[in-house]
Amino acid sequence: MNAPLIPPPGIASCPIPNRVLMGPGPSDMHPRVVAALGHSAIGHLDPAFVAMMEEIKVLLRYAFQTENALTFAVSGPGSVGMETCFVNLVEPGDKVIVCRNGVFGGRMIENVQRFGGTAVVVEDTWGEPVDPRKVADALKANPDAKMVAFVHAETSTGAQSDAAALVKLAREAGCLSIVDTVTSLGGTPVLADAWGADAIYSGSQKCLSCVPGLAPVTFSERAVERVKARKQKVPSWFMDLGLVLEYWSAPGGKRTYHHTAPVNSLFALHESLVMLKEEGLEQAWARHRLHHEALKAGFDVLGLRFVVREDARLPQLNAVYIPEGVDDAAVRKQLLEKYNLEIGAGLGPLAGKVWRFGLMGHSARRENVDLCLGALADVLSGMGKAADKKTALAAASSVYATSTR
Ligand SMILES: *Cc1c(COP(=O)(O)O)cnc(C)c1O
Repeated sequence: MNAPLIPPPGIASCPIPNRVLMGPGPSDMHPRVVAALGHSAIGHLDPAFVAMMEEIKVLLRYAFQTENALTFAVSGPGSVGMETCFVNLVEPGDKVIVCRNGVFGGRMIENVQRFGGTAVVVEDTWGEPVDPRKVADALKANPDAKMVAFVHAETSTGAQSDAAALVKLAREAGCLSIVDTVTSLGGTPVLADAWGADAIYSGSQKCLSCVPGLAPVTFSERAVERVKARKQKVPSWFMDLGLVLEYWSAPGGKRTYHHTAPVNSLFALHESLVMLKEEGLEQAWARHRLHHEALKAGFDVLGLRFVVREDARLPQLNAVYIPEGVDDAAVRKQLLEKYNLEIGAGLGPLAGKVWRFGLMGHSARRENVDLCLGALADVLSGMGKAADKKTALAAASSVYATSTR
């Protein structure tokens, strides 16, 4: 017999660095969430676990501000939440109006096409919110469209679109709406019922301060009816809502095995949602705004310009232009190596042109803002740029001084 294949020597437990996460996600996990994650696993059909799943549904309805019965967490990252919405709602031949003003709208187009639909693309410049007038025109030009899909908070640019207006247009045209709230949930208002949205997906690792790998979703009655009325089977076994619900929704109280739920991640999600409830949604939104204002005050001193116009800016995702003559990668490398601080690079047409500073969930706190402004000022000064650290920190400080929080 041949000797068994063995890995090379020298591989041992990994020394994981402690980082401060101020990029586009994941964000810092709260210590309470980390503690929940570290508990020993229990069975995914254990009555104690099932009771916790029921609470997660209740807490997610709070987070989404909805009474939708079909509200739960898909086992998988935000991208699986996205696919769950599209694979269940799109049937071959369906026309879907998809708004693209950044990376994630592009992924929606991919989803529509891969499931046999036709995407009618409404384009807006990266950094701009989706223009509702263009969507209205697309709906007029495509009376046979069945759905409208858009990203509420475009993480690639930091632009927030007017979800209420876009969903209203969809409804008036008799279309269902699919909304990406991966970066908005818990950070800025997501009002599923007030908007009248039909399918919304999100992610655990952005403004919920939780571990990556879970995708909260919620579906309206209209969306559920659409799925039930499908002519063809959902072309995914794992994401087929009808099958998943035999585990998450216990028809007749009898939960059955579908897949092994990521129990520890769900402990963590439960804890993060309890924390959101304790803080209160409005307070969480106000906290994200406050730290954004402080960071912005510091950035103004450092001469960093925002990509997105003020009234469409996401507080939790701050995209700014890289100053002229500054080496993008070198700055990010120094921040990571010297300060353990992760920030985000630009994507697509903004690659090399912008930095993205996340203030999401537990990352949205004063010590992070101060660390970030101080570290960035030091690094820029070290490269010979004028960057007044003291004044930048003082500007942030004065925002905190005038806040009532
Ligand atoms: C992060 C993100 C996703 C994808 O989530 P993953 O957990 O990385 O799969 C989708 N949409 C938006 C807007 C995001 O910011």
